[in-house]
Parts: sequence; C-alpha cells; structure tokens
Amino acid sequence: MQIPAYEREPFLRSMETDVVRTGEARGRAFVVLADTILYPEGGGQPADRGRIGDVPVEDVRTVDGQIRHYLAGEAPAGRVRVELDWARRFDHMQQHTGQHLLTAVAEQRCGWHTTAFHLGERVSDIELDASKPTAEQIAGLEDAIAAEIRAARPVTARRVSPEEYATLSVRTRGLPDGFTGTVRLVEIAGVDLNTCGGTHVRSTAEIEGLKLLGTEAMRGGTRLFYVAGARLRRLLGAHHERSAKLRQLLGTSDDDLPSGVAAKLDQLKDAQRAVKALEEELAAAAGRALAMGSEKVANAHWPERDLAFLQRVAREFVRLAPDRVALLTAGGEGQGAFVLCAGERATMDLAAAGRGVADVLGGRGGGSGRIFQGKATALSRRAEALARLETLG
Ligand SMILES: [Zn+2]
Repeated sequence: MQIPAYEREPFLRSMETDVVRTGEARGRAFVVLADTILYPEGGGQPADRGRIGDVPVEDVRTVDGQIRHYLAGEAPAGRVRVELDWARRFDHMQQHTGQHLLTAVAEQRCGWHTTAFHLGERVSDIELDASKPTAEQIAGLEDAIAAEIRAARPVTARRVSPEEYATLSVRTRGLPDGFTGTVRLVEIAGVDLNTCGGTHVRSTAEIEGLKLLGTEAMRGGTRLFYVAGARLRRLLGAHHERSAKLRQLLGTSDDDLPSGVAAKLDQLKDAQRAVKALEEELAAAAGRALAMGSEKVANAHWPERDLAFLQRVAREFVRLAPDRVALLTAGGEGQGAFVLCAGERATMDLAAAGRGVADVLGGRGGGSGRIFQGKATALSRRAEALARLETLG
C-alpha cells in the first residue's frame, strides 16, 4: 500500500475509497481499504474512530502489514465513504504534538530523557529517567514550553532514506536491525527532529496550551502528567464547576476549601467520638435495666444496633446479674446478630445453648467465657429461640 492518507494529509476528515478485503476476527467484521484517513493504534497514539458508509469503526489496527478497520456492523463492499471522528483525532494530535514538545524541552533544558508515552483518555503522561524533579524545575519547564507554543513553530513531517537519516541529528533510539524503506521524521522547527509515525498539528500554536499536572515516582524514574489543547479548557471548566458546588456546600471561598473540608472532617471525628460515648452509656443503661428485670431469660432486641453494642450490654448484664441468662439480638432479617450471655453463677451450658440458638436463628456463632455471640439470618424466629432457652434453665 502507498503511504496512507492519514499520513499524507492528517487534516483530511473524509474520503472515498475502495474496500479491498473483508474478514472477521474475534467475532468482529473488519475491512481493509485501498487508502485510509483512519490512524491505526501505534507509537502511544490511540486508534481513530469514524464511519465507513453507515457502519461505525470501533478500532483500527495494523495486522501483518494491513490496516484493519474493525466494524460495529456488517462489512460494506465496493466504493465507500470514510468519515473520521475529527474531534477525537484533533485532540490526539494536540496531546501527541504536545508530547513531542514536552519531551524535547525536558531533554534540552533539564537533560531528562523520555522513555515512554501514554495518551490517556483524561490526562496523558511521559516517563522520564529523572529522579525527583523539583517544583522549580517543573515550573521552569512549563514556562519554557509555553514560550515555544507562543512562538508558533512549524511542525512538519517528511520521509528520508536510511542514508540521509544517518547524516541527520535525530533524537531517537536508532532504527531496528535490517530496516529497509524510508524513515518518517517529524520536526518542530528549531526545537526537535525525531522519528514518528503518528499524526500532528501544523504548528506549536495549534497545541493551544500545555499544563504539567504533577509527577509520580516510579521504578527507575518519574512519571510526568500533562494535559494539552482543548482538553485543558475542558479540564479547567470541570474543576471550576466542581469548586463552585463545593463552595456552595461549604459556604467558603475557593481558597478556603481545603481548610473548610479539614474543619468539617474534624467536626465529624468529634461527632463520632460523642456518638461512641453515648452508645456506651446507652449499652450500660440497657444492661442495668435488663439485670433489674425478673424474666427467666432476660431478652431485648435493637433493630438499629450491632454486635459490638450487644457485647457491651452483655458485659454489664453478667456483672450485675451473676445468676441469670440473657438473649440479646440486633439488626434486621437476613443480617442480624445475637448474643447469649450467662452470669458466673448461672447453671446453663452456654456453648450448647448458644449453638441451639444459632440453629434456630439461622446463623453461626461461638464464644468464650460468659458470652456466646454470632450472626443470625432469621431473627423473626426469636420467640422460638427464647422458648427453647426457657425450657433449659
Ligand atoms: Zn509523533
């Protein structure tokens, strides 16, 4: 195949061409075209989307030297019209050309080499062989990139022979062994010359802007996140909208949002401590009230409490009523808890009685000392469990 249209004319958004092959792979139809404006995934740049006739293109990949367009429907035949999802492609061109500029300036200014590039759906990143860049270095790098964007430097692509390539000063890791054919070079005038098969904007001005979003240490270097182009405005817009909602919720200014949230979290911690203290008091009071009663088997149910609460009640109960037994339950049907407890002078075989209660309540449990506890899935059978206990003691 000749040089594909996406490389010859990266700003072409639609074209007519012929289907030269149809096939199916992994349950999806694909077509190979005589020419294409749809870029196949490669070099860190994701595959394009678009339509061939009326059929959406879900993926584009090079397989055995052919560009396969994977379709969301039946493969068309003959002469077809190809449409490119231009918004998505132009975004990729902005992120990708932004990466060329970022990589070149990071190398020239800081001596950091780029070892990998990921064009993400939200933000993109490059991997650098630098360890722990300082905030000043990152800020300086961002300023230097902005200056190159303002300079509106032409971005061009061309193919050269391996012989010519050998004479040029190209930022690259070299050609693979046994390489034949031409080498595609992408140049940012006065800044960078590198091999690349991707699609790019025509001038650094078309990158619009590039914002560095922080770093993350990784094995052997640093990952540097960035966003470029129209994404930058969308991202800022989303941040602004989110901040407005938070300002309204917290009743503070933008600058006071972090301290406002920190204050709310402190209040929450205080409130949780207060609730816990009240729960303990409540449990102790419940334990005392049960201990003062006269039923053969003291019992109570709390729909909104949990096992920890039952244990507190039980500890107080066995302390104050050493010769009595209590069955305590909490929670709802399907997700309840129970505690069977007996004071030290009570004669009941607690483990055996506890297993019996667990059987009736559709749960499992265990215990040591004066408390047998467990989960219960059938608290509606509480009366039955109680009646069984009353026959025991
Ligand atoms: Zn490129």
